[in-house]
Amino acid sequence: MSRSISRRLRAVPSDIHRIPERIGELLTMLTYMRPAGSASEVAFIREYITPTGAAADEFGNYWLTIGDAPILWSSHTDTVHNHSGKQAVTYGDGYATLNYDAKALSVSNCLGADCTVGVWLMLHMIRAGVEGTYVFHRSEEIGGLGSSYIANECPDRLDGMFAAIAFDRAGSTRSSRIKAGNAAPLTGSRIVWPTS
Ligand SMILES: [Zn+2]
Repeated sequence: MSRSISRRLRAVPSDIHRIPERIGELLTMLTYMRPAGSASEVAFIREYITPTGAAADEFGNYWLTIGDAPILWSSHTDTVHNHSGKQAVTYGDGYATLNYDAKALSVSNCLGADCTVGVWLMLHMIRAGVEGTYVFHRSEEIGGLGSSYIANECPDRLDGMFAAIAFDRAGSTRSSRIKAGNAAPLTGSRIVWPTS
């Protein structure tokens, strides 16, 4: 591998110290390639999910309730990456993208913003004390197994919920866009936020 390519394959951008902390965290989260059940997914959960105090059900979905609001917030911890590990993510001009060298070298097959952005949003909501019940689904990308487990085995956990908000991509043929305060429009394949 040439020096220039290896430099561009850094796990996080070299100017990450200039990026707002919350965005730097998102870029670091995007470096985890997390097929369902992979070592990288487990490491991601240990790094980001368990520190919130969320507890796993028997399937492995993680739950956390703040306050009394009857709202379910959900995302999923796995991605559609075809193998576990770390990937390079580049940042510039307000865009986070998968490093194209990484793609060409088959290091990675996707950015994984679905559902890393959703997880990141929920982490910030938890830290801000936004009320509701948070669930981080497992094995979503291999057939919605985590959410099916809840529907079939413990639907009572959803009793009394008034609304369920899923921070996930809508459908399989297009990217959804989520507006998150002043953070940015967010898409499944590319993340954009204002530079000002
Ligand atoms: Zn998804």
